[in-house]
Amino acid sequence: MSAPLLEVKHLKKYFDTPSGPLHAVDDITFTLNAGETLGVVGESGCGKSTLGRAILNLHPTTDGETWFEGELITGCSKARQKELRKEMQIIFQDPFSSLDPRMTVSQLIAEPLDIYKIYSNKADQEKKVDELMDTVGLAARLYNAYPHELDGGRRQRIGVARALALNPKFIVCDEPVSALDVSIQAQILNLMQDLQQERGIAYMFVTHNLSVVKHIANDIMVMYLGTMMEKSPAKELFSRTLHPYTQALLSAIPIPAIGQKRERILLKGELSSPINPKPGCRFAPRCPYATEVCLQKFPELEEIFPNHFVACHHVREVNGI
Ligand code: SF4
Repeated sequence: MSAPLLEVKHLKKYFDTPSGPLHAVDDITFTLNAGETLGVVGESGCGKSTLGRAILNLHPTTDGETWFEGELITGCSKARQKELRKEMQIIFQDPFSSLDPRMTVSQLIAEPLDIYKIYSNKADQEKKVDELMDTVGLAARLYNAYPHELDGGRRQRIGVARALALNPKFIVCDEPVSALDVSIQAQILNLMQDLQQERGIAYMFVTHNLSVVKHIANDIMVMYLGTMMEKSPAKELFSRTLHPYTQALLSAIPIPAIGQKRERILLKGELSSPINPKPGCRFAPRCPYATEVCLQKFPELEEIFPNHFVACHHVREVNGI
């Protein structure tokens, strides 16, 4: 078996605050193969976007390592980071605020090519921009349009084209469809899947919505307050959801079949603070199954079924296994 494209080992990212360190990402470990997608799911503030940025060295990490194609890239030099940006890209959630409103579609797509001088002359640059517009399904007539003249879906296609311009092997997709209408979401997800198949790109797909990654992720990791609660192959996670938090997330997804209903698990209790977090399970204040041990002892990840990892002291009792 070939080595993974990306290896993240015990990654931590804490932010200093006047009240103490905020544990945004706390000891996350995973691997990702070329051409595969890891869905990273959790509520806002769970650290999933920070994790993506820390992997790309956009945030300095507090501890842990990221390896890309067998190279340790955590804390590498600025020059190496710039080089790596060709291989590792990001697509942002809000295409409108991530695009300079004074630049046209063609200028926005040409920008990464300009920075890295990925063309031999002006004609070659224009040809590359035309090809990228075609690849992401932007009509040639939009060449000189400005972002405000486009709908959200087309703006996100610019974001995808910019990420693709340097032919990366890995893209962090940070909630790339959550600002879009449902029908447009499907178009962008299909486009990203097609590009993955053609080019073998690996995605880390960050989202608060489990259903978005159901059909596109190979593996899904569920995060809560900076820590990993559950990780498994996507199909397995949906057919055998083991962690009480994932069960609550899943219960919020409507079932498309008429007449079928899923009982919604409403989480009560306060979100605990990620600043100087208490020992024990971070989900304990909201977990219906919490006991004394949950408040005292941090639950380590355990492989309950092959490749299905869960961090919960009572996973067996909760699921009758
Ligand atoms: Fe709930 Fe305890 Fe499991 Fe945490 S460890 S999810 S509090 S049962």
